[in-house]
Order: sequence, then structure tokens, then C-alpha cells
Amino acid sequence: MPSLNDIRSTFLNYFAKQGHEIVPSSPLVPRNDPTLMFTNSGMVQFKNLFTGVETRDYQRATTSQKCVRAGGKHNDLDNVGYTARHHTFFEMLGNFSFGDYFKDDAIPFAWELITKEFDIPKDKLYTTIYHTDDEAFEIWRKVGVPEDRIIRIATSDNFWQMGPTGPCGPCTEIFYDHGDHIWGGPPGSPEEDGDRFIEIWNVVFMQNEQFEDGSMKALDMQSIDTGMGLERIGALLQGSHDNYDTDLMKSLIEASADATSVDPYGDKNVHHRVIADHLRSTSFLISDGVMPSNDGRGYVLRRIMRRAMRHAHLLGAKDPVMHRLVPALVQQMGAAYPELTQAQALIEETLKLEETRFKQTLDRGLKLLDDELDGLEEGAPLSGDAAFKLYDTYGFPLDLTQDALREKGREVDTDGFDAAMEEQKAKARAAWAGSGEAADNTVWFDVLDTAGATDFLGYDTEKAEGQV
Ligand code: ATP
Ligand code: MG
Ligand code: MG
Ligand code: MG
Repeated sequence: MPSLNDIRSTFLNYFAKQGHEIVPSSPLVPRNDPTLMFTNSGMVQFKNLFTGVETRDYQRATTSQKCVRAGGKHNDLDNVGYTARHHTFFEMLGNFSFGDYFKDDAIPFAWELITKEFDIPKDKLYTTIYHTDDEAFEIWRKVGVPEDRIIRIATSDNFWQMGPTGPCGPCTEIFYDHGDHIWGGPPGSPEEDGDRFIEIWNVVFMQNEQFEDGSMKALDMQSIDTGMGLERIGALLQGSHDNYDTDLMKSLIEASADATSVDPYGDKNVHHRVIADHLRSTSFLISDGVMPSNDGRGYVLRRIMRRAMRHAHLLGAKDPVMHRLVPALVQQMGAAYPELTQAQALIEETLKLEETRFKQTLDRGLKLLDDELDGLEEGAPLSGDAAFKLYDTYGFPLDLTQDALREKGREVDTDGFDAAMEEQKAKARAAWAGSGEAADNTVWFDVLDTAGATDFLGYDTEKAEGQV
């Protein structure tokens, strides 16, 4: 059975044989792109090559790109622990053509790799195309996909845009049917979100340019951008539908089980899964220079760390756990990503410090949360004031409280939470005004308003992010 490390190599070597340059992953913090919170797809480091602003001495590239989808528009944080196919950190395998080959080659490349190199049975595969893309339909038919397995989709799932303006085009996706013992329906059906038909690969055809006035024209330079989740193809090749059953994720789940002395595959499995996932995203973010803080990228990191720590608490951990799992991660991924090995000591210290600090308030905060819930009617939401107290006094990010309540089928009164936050800011303003400071301290409050810890919305308006 191939390991994830083997599969990564097979992918890169296949495309190297087809004339692609193997390019290293770019960091998780995109260079020169403040509009994007984290690198969330393989194309991010190549944006300027697709627009023609930059050229390099290769026109074909292949990568295994570190991606984080937490915070910002593509946010899979709430899927972790709930679906079999989502991580906050994952590796996206991709092949790219910058004005070189197009659909006629991109589809056969993908098909050959999947059905020959990886030997995946054809009768388990489905493809989707953008509803008007007859060219893609024809090419899929020619490589041998039966017509009733080429599904036309009219939504944005099959039309990719780099941003509101700029390169865009239809895409085609490959799905694998894991069988009717798993809930879910084929792409385009209402049950698509289940884990039965899992999307493994997205192949984008950049053929148009979108302008501000809404018009679109054909691009002179046609390009290809693809993305396949390593953990998803890995699960499939290792005989499972579940990313967390892969060799790599299992070894992290087992490390978590060792550190907490809790059965990895019993009823506490979900906590180990979340911990394994969050261990990867937090460690890779730290190795790329992000440190926990109260705003921006650092606050997303802190939120992920604290969520993991609550799950460790639910496993009964009395002492900090996360830092003890880092060696297992480095052992698995350090060879492919040497920056992880180099940052090992920093990652361990940062996790330990954050967990030691948060431990001091976590237990008391959870106790408060339980007491509040005891006093509430069936199904009623947690009051905004209580959620704000958890945030303000106990350091619970709002999404951590929401995560804790979701298990119990409850929600937070978020309007009430926002109102409590506003009230606190207003009080702080009044205190300043009363102190006789110069009037221009309003600047400080503007900063507070835009950078307030839970108010961080800046990157939600991000435009220039690729799906793939
Ligand atoms: P899904 O619909 O399953 O959420 P997506 O359409 O959001 O996936 P894309 O943006 O098309 O995914 O990304 C390209 C590929 O990256 C996907 O086909 C999938 O294999 C992989 N991928 C996307 N998001 C995740 C994730 N959160 N964890 C693991 N793999 C992912
Ligand atoms: Mg998604
Ligand atoms: Mg999708
Ligand atoms: Mg997709």
C-alpha cells in the first residue's frame, strides 16, 4: 500500500516526465498578497504567471502545495471532526500550464495518472463539467468516460474565478464513489455534501478574462491550474473513504492516543481527529512565521490552537499535550518539508506556552459554560453576555464556544455577543474621554474597532483568492 509520501512522489514524477518543472511549495503566508489570509491552493504562487505579468524559464510546473483553509472565505475549520474529507491543513497536488498545453492534454493527463499510474477502477469514477463546456464533454468521452458519468453543472462549483476581475474559466472535477454504505449523493444532487461521492481533483481551464463592467473576453493565453488533495487520493489508494484513515493521519491520531492514554478508535476518536488536524495546521503555520496573537493571521492560529486544547481537555488531559505530538509530525513530514524540522523547537515551545496559559482559564471557563447551560431551557441559545464573558475573562474565542455548543445542539446568541462587545468598547471610550487625554485618541479607538480580537473580518472581503 503506498504511503502519502509515496503518492506525493508518484504525482510529481508523473508530471516531471510530462515536461513539468517540480517547484517547491510556497509558504502558507502568501508573499506580497495582503488580500489573502493563507495560501489555500496551488495556484497562489503562480498568479502573476497566469496573468502574464511574470514569465519564467518553464511553462509547465507541478507542486505539492501546503494549504490552510481556516479563516477567510475558504474556511473548513467547522468541517473538521464532522466530515471525512476536510482538513484545516492539507497538501494540494497540482499541475500547471502557463499558456502551454490546454484541455486536450490536461484531461488525458489526469485520466492517465488516475486510472493507469494509480490504477483506480474506472467504474467508480464520475466527472463534472461546466454546463456549457462541450469541449470538455467531448474530451472526456474520447478518453472513455461514459456519457452518463459526465455531469453538467451550472453553478460556480464548476466555474472558477481568480477574483471579481481577471482570469477565469470553466473547470472539471473528478469524483470517486466510495459506495452506498456511506451517506451522500452524486455531484449536483442535494446529498452531494455527504462523503460517499468524494471530489478528488479539480482541473481549471483558464480561458476567459472578466472585466469590471461585467463583460468577458477570451484570453490570448490559455492556462491550466489543477488541484488534488493528497489526503483524499491517499485515503482512496489505501482503501478508505476517510482522510483520517491514511498512514500519516493515523500515526498522529495514535500519537495523540499515546499522549492522553485514550483509545484512538473508540468513542473519543473525534477528539483525536481534531487534534491530529490542528497539530498540522498550527505547526506548519508557526514554521512559516505566524505566531499566536490577538488579530489577523495570529488570531486564526490562536483560535485553532485553543480549539485543539479543548479537545485535549475532553480527553482528560491534565497537562499540555500538543507540544508532545510534534516529534511524530516531524517524523512523518519533516523530510518533505525541511522547514518543519528546522522550526521544531520553536513549534514545541510556542504550543507549550500557549497551552500552559490557556489551561489556567480553560477549566474554569468550561465549568462556567456547563453552569450556564444547566440554567437554560431546552434548545435555547447561550446568551451573548455569557459568550462574551467566556471570551473576555477566559480567553474563549467565539468559535471555540460555538464548537463546544455544537456537540450539544446549541448555538450562541451572536447578536447579543456583538452587543456586549460594543458595550465594552463604549465603556472604554468613555473612560478615555473622562481621563482628559487629547481628543485625537479617537484614532486609537478606530484601530480598536478594526482590529478588535473577535471582530476580525478584514480578510473575509478577500477577493483575489483561487479555489484551486
Ligand atoms: P469540497 O467541495 O470537498 O469542499 P472544494 O471544491 O472546496 O472541495 P477545491 O477548492 O476544488 O476543493 O480544491 C481542490 C482539491 O483540494 C479538492 O478537489 C480536494 O481534493 C482538495 N481539498 C479541498 N479542500 C480540502 C480540505 N479542506 N481538506 C483536504 N483536501 C481538500
Ligand atoms: Mg470546500
Ligand atoms: Mg467542491
Ligand atoms: Mg472543487
